[in-house]
Amino acid sequence: MTLSKNVMKVQPSATLATSAKTKEMIANGIDVINLAIGEPDFVTPDYIQTAAIEAIRSGKTSFYTPAGGLPELKTAIGQRIAVETGVHYDNKQIIATTGAKFALYLIFEVILNPGDEVLLPAPFWVSYAEQVNLTGGTPISVATTGAGHKVTVADLEKARSAKTQALVLNSPQNPSGLIYTAAELTAIGNWAVAHDILLISDEIYSNLVYNGNQFTSMVGLSEAICKNTLLVTGVSKTYAMTGWRMGYVLGDPAIIKAMTTVASHATGNPTTVSQYATIAALTGDQQDTEDMRQAFEQRLNLLFPKIQSLPGFELTEKPQGAFYLFPNVKRAVALCGYATTEAFVDGLLEEAHVAVVPGRAFGQPDHIRISYANDQASLLAAYQRLADFIQTKS
Ligand code: PLP
Repeated sequence: MTLSKNVMKVQPSATLATSAKTKEMIANGIDVINLAIGEPDFVTPDYIQTAAIEAIRSGKTSFYTPAGGLPELKTAIGQRIAVETGVHYDNKQIIATTGAKFALYLIFEVILNPGDEVLLPAPFWVSYAEQVNLTGGTPISVATTGAGHKVTVADLEKARSAKTQALVLNSPQNPSGLIYTAAELTAIGNWAVAHDILLISDEIYSNLVYNGNQFTSMVGLSEAICKNTLLVTGVSKTYAMTGWRMGYVLGDPAIIKAMTTVASHATGNPTTVSQYATIAALTGDQQDTEDMRQAFEQRLNLLFPKIQSLPGFELTEKPQGAFYLFPNVKRAVALCGYATTEAFVDGLLEEAHVAVVPGRAFGQPDHIRISYANDQASLLAAYQRLADFIQTKS
């Protein structure tokens, strides 16, 4: 038996691999500070937990829901998105999925034919490229020339070919934390419309924006751009709900219908209890979300200047959203006598007990991703370990 050609092209998730190794070290009693994580370190707010418990207690556990989610969940999603973007979607334009990760997979599954290309401005979130590989498409890493790793229309134009089917744009961005301005998004959106390239706008960090920066959703820019865009988001980051696995997509009803058909054969439906928890999250008081946002903001403001000051670390643009820093560490790697960023990251984990993710999986091998989804004391301790590690090695 040989494995399929598509699956042989795929690497396991680098972030999950680092995370698994870190968790194993912690389980073995080693005091590792985990800055490799892509999940908020907060507990899901109480009112959401309560709604889920009530759903379980009232027997909402033993039935399948419609494949694309309960109608009342779709309504709640539509209402929240209308508040956040000003755009009104009806239920036919909405699908709820088992996490935004699976939502993206479903999109690629229904839009790609063999050889179709998907543009991924680098750095990009690790799973985009592998999902495109898995669904028979070709991921195209686009070199970015805008400030803070932003892609420009000129960059995209260079990468465009007759086979370009879609562009994935992620703002606020994982791993760089950058946010595209309305003007930048409009230029990119109009370019995509003009070339009939589907825009997949991953806005999962849209509520984690700091220091007075403004988030603009792609779908609120114009009717033409909205029609050409699939909005992908979910509750994982905003509501500290990564474990509940609930994401959603809003856009073209024909694409949503095709995704729902595939989902009906793949997962059946997203977990019923999680759907009830998500309705509570989206319709409840948003103060917990704001409290978590403020905590992330304080951590960013604490950690950013410290990471900037490390010898051989280059980090010019201050992140505006998400919960990551993405410094170029090329000089630090050389300074410490390592041949590759991966070896540096391994050394850091094994010797200094600080876990971060090497940038190669994001399309930028000279960088590392540092998550600040950790408490302030741990962030300060991690910084000190990093500084000591570099000093000892150089
Ligand atoms: N998109 C980006 C940019 C992410 O960072 C993540 C999670 O790390 C996701 C999508 C997927 O989120 P989830 O599957 O938890 O909804």
